[in-house]
Amino acid sequence: MNAKFETYHVERTPRAPLLRADVERTSHAPLPRAGIEQTPNTPLLRADGVTLQYATRQSVTTATYRVSFEVRRGDLFAVMGHSGCGKSTILNAIAGNLHPVEGTLLLNNKSISGPGPERMVVWQSHDQLLPWKTVLENVAYPLILNGKATAQVARAKATQWLETVGLARALNQFPHQLSGGMKMRAAIARGLCFEPEILLMDEPFAALDALNRAHMQDELKELQSRTGTTILLVTHDIAEAVRVASRILVLSPHPGQVKAEVNGAQTDAERLELTALLTQLLHEKHDHHTEEV
Ligand code: ADP
Ligand code: MG
Repeated sequence: MNAKFETYHVERTPRAPLLRADVERTSHAPLPRAGIEQTPNTPLLRADGVTLQYATRQSVTTATYRVSFEVRRGDLFAVMGHSGCGKSTILNAIAGNLHPVEGTLLLNNKSISGPGPERMVVWQSHDQLLPWKTVLENVAYPLILNGKATAQVARAKATQWLETVGLARALNQFPHQLSGGMKMRAAIARGLCFEPEILLMDEPFAALDALNRAHMQDELKELQSRTGTTILLVTHDIAEAVRVASRILVLSPHPGQVKAEVNGAQTDAERLELTALLTQLLHEKHDHHTEEV
């Protein structure tokens, strides 16, 4: 760990306006949600010194090295860094598909030991819908398959969430009849149907054109503040993080180490300041953890 790393590894103590964690936190308080305990001070998700590796017989690739961060309820938490810095790997570990070789990953203070419906993933590709099923069936079907609801209840829930994401008029359409943005909304509705504690999104808008992407980013932010859903969003795009996030974790290039954890921006002035800060953090040199093979 070098001096710079220390400087930028932001604990939740005030340093600069954008880093005023606890002051700004209050303005990001989530809406109360039925059935979910509101404990604003305990993190919903906590990564503590998480090292993630891919091992084959010949070699070990360290994807992330001792990464720590906290996601609180109601956060729209962006994990950002260059391609290959381990963002998807972290998301996969939170989803329960990969286990840390070092450190801990806790959801509600409990170690994550495998996949679970309280952590729903919306994947990178928006072609995640079954082409032979309608939008409504696509969203209701997983609930029925997982034994979460009867067919009738599942259809009612699916309808409600599809309305929430603005797809009320597309319930009976098939995926090929939808735009990229609409497919993404259906995929989000499908995740939200499970009423997850956290929605995990891996570069969800990467396949959309620029105009649609900006539109979906605004919609996601609006949906998130309306429903209070906690979202962890992986992105390599500074503009995206600045536009949507309430909190941003910045990782160094491969293997990913924490460079900073900063608050999102709320005003135009803060957006400018945050853009400059993220640009600087992502482009400066970083002393890598040397990979042991
Ligand atoms: P990002 O999502 O930030 O682009 P990834 O998490 O996909 O990065 O990858 C992090 C590192 O782990 C990269 O060096 C990548 O090559 C490596 N990696 C990813 N998946 C695998 C895998 N299944 N097996 C071996 N190495 C992998
Ligand atoms: Mg990735």
